[in-house]
Amino acid sequence: RYDGPRADEILRKRSEYLSPSMYYFYKKPLNIVEGKMQYLFDQDGRRYLDAFAGIATVCCGHCHPDVVDAVVRQTSRMQHSTVVYLNHAIADFAEALASKLPGDLKVVFFTNSGTEANELALLITRLYTGCHDIVSVRNAYHGNAAGTMGTTAQNNWKFNVIQSGVHHAMNPDPYRGAFGSDGEKYARDVQEIIEFGTSGQVAGFISESIQGVGGIVELAPGYLPAVYESIRKAGGLCIADEVQSGFARTGSHFWGFEAHGIVPDIVTMAKGIGNGIPLGAVVTTPEIAQVLTRRNYFNTFGGNPVCTAGGLAVLRVLEKEKLQQNALLVGSYLRDRLKALQEKHESNPSATPYLFIGDVRGRGMMLGVELVTDLKQKTPARTEISHAMDQMKDMGVLVGKGGFYGNVFRITPPLCFTKEDADFFIEVMDIALSRL
Ligand code: PMP
Repeated sequence: RYDGPRADEILRKRSEYLSPSMYYFYKKPLNIVEGKMQYLFDQDGRRYLDAFAGIATVCCGHCHPDVVDAVVRQTSRMQHSTVVYLNHAIADFAEALASKLPGDLKVVFFTNSGTEANELALLITRLYTGCHDIVSVRNAYHGNAAGTMGTTAQNNWKFNVIQSGVHHAMNPDPYRGAFGSDGEKYARDVQEIIEFGTSGQVAGFISESIQGVGGIVELAPGYLPAVYESIRKAGGLCIADEVQSGFARTGSHFWGFEAHGIVPDIVTMAKGIGNGIPLGAVVTTPEIAQVLTRRNYFNTFGGNPVCTAGGLAVLRVLEKEKLQQNALLVGSYLRDRLKALQEKHESNPSATPYLFIGDVRGRGMMLGVELVTDLKQKTPARTEISHAMDQMKDMGVLVGKGGFYGNVFRITPPLCFTKEDADFFIEVMDIALSRL
């Protein structure tokens, strides 16, 4: 039983004391008071199947007992900054994390968020190369501080930051992009940016492996290998932003970039790394990591004992419970069922005369469903998706939305999602779309 403050009271306090920039999902926002594995519970004890996991943040499941236990034990023993003294938690987690990365990627810097991780990665590329120019991909999201907001490439998320030296390349988006699924054609744009927009030398390139905020956009095959080649020829370093696509979420691989057959110079991560605990990291090679010794560099809470104890527990749970395999199995099943739903709504226009699933995409448990009102024009079904989300919430399912036009369902559940959960999800989405 929950007898704490109710939604109305929280809303009143929010409107008086919190930033007006804060927003929420649903006409009547949910007061979520408890989480357990793939479920969330509201103030009235109503259970919701969570297919968003706090924006791909919870990987092992809400309040996974092993992670909670590790955090509580370390909190009661000792919590302080990571700098100036030794503590085994940070070293143990760094070692375990490094073992999950390929090649020479084995030096870890911990941060408190994805934004901080990407800011640091951008700084490292500029220090290492002595160049300033960075290429990022349109429709990307990399964070909300000055540098990362510059590399973020959607006006929804940008204020008038000074975007010094940032170039935004064509998005290799197979559904909406000019060249369809031909990754090498899009990669040509990066080569031309280097040739016509820079001195010919660049600091680096940053990209998500699957765009998350941008609406679960899988980069066209062949794009990343060709771009990495161009960037490296121009002296730059390649950053893989694994904030959403990392930590087993894509199922086929532990890291999203692995599906593209590339090895980045720097990998950034957050969200899933701590199963909900504020934690982020930058992993790079010993040689590149040296650049930060030129000055003093520290981060008070990055890698603190409590968060790193939690992070280590997350890695162990992922392995013990074979969650990557589950993400692949259940994620592929869910994707197939979403494809079938797409066909059903297309072939039965009397049920939904103007609303279609234009695209189903993604990997493992990072899936996107794009709603359109016209299949040829791909007209975004912007308002419809909000109605559908409200309907789904009323039937006990929470799902996210995103994409530049705000018309893509983002399905990123905790990796413990089961086949039965996937069936329930499909049934609820089907009813919600049919009712529209
Ligand atoms: N990179 C990606 C791919 C993200 O999705 C996000 C957050 N949505 C960030 C970076 C920024 O992470 P944070 O919000 O923890 O700063």
